[in-house]
Amino acid sequence: MHHTAVKGMHDLLPPDSARWAAVETAARRVFARYGFAEIRTPVVEKSALFVRGLGDASDIVGKEMYTFVDKGDESLTLRPEGTAPVVRAYVEHALYQTDPQAKLFYFSPMFRRERPQKGRYRQFHQIGAELFGTASPQADAEVITLLVRLLESVGVQGAQLELNSLGCAACRPAYQSALRTFLAGVAEALCGDCQRRLHTNPLRVLDCKNPSCQERLGGAPGIAASWCAECRTHFDAVQDALALAGVAFRLNPRIARGLDYYVRTAFEITSDQLGAQSALCGGGRYDGLVRALGGPDVPGVGFGIGMERLMLLLADTQPAPLPPSVFVAALGEAPRRAAWAVIEQLRAADWCVEWDYEDRSLKSQMKRADRLGAVHVVLLGSDELARAEVTVRNMSTKAQVAVPLATVVEHFHQIRNHT
Ligand code: AMP
Repeated sequence: MHHTAVKGMHDLLPPDSARWAAVETAARRVFARYGFAEIRTPVVEKSALFVRGLGDASDIVGKEMYTFVDKGDESLTLRPEGTAPVVRAYVEHALYQTDPQAKLFYFSPMFRRERPQKGRYRQFHQIGAELFGTASPQADAEVITLLVRLLESVGVQGAQLELNSLGCAACRPAYQSALRTFLAGVAEALCGDCQRRLHTNPLRVLDCKNPSCQERLGGAPGIAASWCAECRTHFDAVQDALALAGVAFRLNPRIARGLDYYVRTAFEITSDQLGAQSALCGGGRYDGLVRALGGPDVPGVGFGIGMERLMLLLADTQPAPLPPSVFVAALGEAPRRAAWAVIEQLRAADWCVEWDYEDRSLKSQMKRADRLGAVHVVLLGSDELARAEVTVRNMSTKAQVAVPLATVVEHFHQIRNHT
């Protein structure tokens, strides 16, 4: 029987896995600078968490979740997004008791049953962050600045930050009804999804990717006219702080975000190098969510970066992983036993060591060392062993020296100190 991975889900193989790890290391560094600590939540949650957290009207809950009933008759769901689980953990562990402010980041797989295409998969990964405990516009600006610095630090170029404010519970309903009235007039021309959204979540029509829907939005009422004084002040302060930090952005009144819980600041980072799936990152403020999920009335703001899309952007710029620093070519049984002991000493001293498991000819072992790009080769045949020595060969200069078997690690220590 021939087994294949599930459609829309992919293996991550070397050397790409090393490129991912390098990006994660760089991201950790940036998170640390801004005071964010890592959280890891389970891949599976009770389904009700997402139904409550994302809302029935969201595309995710409506049609994309991997939901199943487990043997205990409980409805469970593979995590489709990162915010609701982090909020669940924040509330469950009462993290707000010691300090309402919490700054958390995660690297997590997500699962959505979408139609797979380039940049869109059924299992994908996000680098995400959430900041709880402050409604300050400075927090929005800081989260966005962190995001931009993170993308810069891994080498993203030419991405565009787009910013909007979705208003709040006080001012959004009036905009929603004005928009609904407008959309009702053009309803026949909208796609099936938008005809539904028109009733459930009219703001979502604004960022529908369907060109025929976009064409109909020409005369739609603008959201800016409906902002209340507080929302306007908040948004001005966010923009001011971004400008002070030197973060470039573009206002885009069509940014709506897919999830019901967003209020005020909403943002996306897009790149035209990504093709149809141009969104690299989405985020925003979600002040009602913690309370909706059973916690205190604590505000929050966060983002999620699509890792696969990030890696598509970095495909040409990421360096390949480093080659092994030492290849040990041993010939014959006794030399191989001696070599194995040396190999372990070198690895304990933090050298990356490869060797040949099959006792092949010297020629084929040297070929392999070459193919792996090894920097040094340690040769150990029966002649060397009889003299209790090895030959160390520098693969780029071809220089060779004899080194006593007992001092190989010491010899490499000196090499390290001289390079
Ligand atoms: P969202 O929570 O839907 O705004 O997603 C945040 C980011 O995750 C997006 O901007 C994408 O980069 C990425 N993303 C969302 N859905 C998928 C998917 N099905 N496949 C790959 N990446 C995705």
